[in-house]
Amino acid sequence: MSDSNGRVEAVLFSGLEHQGDGLLLNKVTLTLTIVCAGTLLAVIIGLLLSRIVARPIAHLRDAVMKVAAQDFQATVPIRSDDEIGDLARAFNGMALSLKQARDAQKRAFQRDKMTAMGEMSMALAHEIRNPIGVISTAAGLLETASNPNRQDELREMIHDESQTLNRLLKDFQQLARHRQPELSLIDPMQPLEKAIRVLLAGRDNIVLIRTPLPDRIRVWADPDLLHQAWVNLLNNALQAIGEQPGELKIGHRLDGENVEILLQDSGPGIPLEEMPRLFEPFFTTKNHGSGLGLTIASTLVEANGGSLSLDPATGPGACFVVRLPRAGEAS
Ligand code: ADP
Repeated sequence: MSDSNGRVEAVLFSGLEHQGDGLLLNKVTLTLTIVCAGTLLAVIIGLLLSRIVARPIAHLRDAVMKVAAQDFQATVPIRSDDEIGDLARAFNGMALSLKQARDAQKRAFQRDKMTAMGEMSMALAHEIRNPIGVISTAAGLLETASNPNRQDELREMIHDESQTLNRLLKDFQQLARHRQPELSLIDPMQPLEKAIRVLLAGRDNIVLIRTPLPDRIRVWADPDLLHQAWVNLLNNALQAIGEQPGELKIGHRLDGENVEILLQDSGPGIPLEEMPRLFEPFFTTKNHGSGLGLTIASTLVEANGGSLSLDPATGPGACFVVRLPRAGEAS
């Protein structure tokens, strides 16, 4: 252009043309610098965020997992005075309280176990002391007794008391050694039927009255453990009836969740004042009883997820109830 404006424009244009390569280079350098600085900044911010937030949270998560797995030694390092530091401090306090509570519970459990063991040993020693006393007195008298009748009497005493000791130790062993139940899907009447077949063989004085249980009812249970429980209950019922003619009634009660099997005898029943002590270990009203039959039966039924009780409202005689949770019905 020929005017002054035109000249200036031309100069500018030509200047740009001259500087074109250098400007492009500057632009690229500038862009690269910005990108590098941005990346560096992002990395620094990332590292800072990781130090300030992500890492403490990861520590906290690891510690929570350990506590969930019952490892109460887990602690979280406290590295700051902000909210995350407060969280770590609160967590450590909580883990310590949980550890102290667990230790206290362990000590209480150990103490209760020792108390129970002590009570059991005292009761056993008490039960053993009587027969042993009789045996040693009779043995002493036997040395000097010259009358043959008296000698027979003393020998019989020794024999009877040894039998009592034997029974007591057998029951005690059964109580201490009962195994873990092996559950299978069974007809809840089956263990009782088996016990009846064994114990009522030759007992012509007993009339058995059964109300059959619907076929489809099933329970998850260990038939051998339940059989042993029924043997104990049937033995008691037969001893209560004695040699006189008597009756055993087998019934049931059903609800949506449980099945109850009832065993009622025609014996004299259980006096009201004895009912609260019935399931106490070593409680017996029999001359040669161990007082462990009902304790064992109850432990065995409970091992199958059920319960054993006396139904005081059903009489005459005693009526014991074995309650078991129902499983799905047989098709
Ligand atoms: P034990 O038979 O060795 O005495 P148990 O624990 O089996 O021990 O029974 C405790 C007590 O409960 C018995 O001594 C008896 O007094 C009472 N008892 C249990 N079952 C019956 C029953 N069917 N009828 C009357 N009394 C019973």
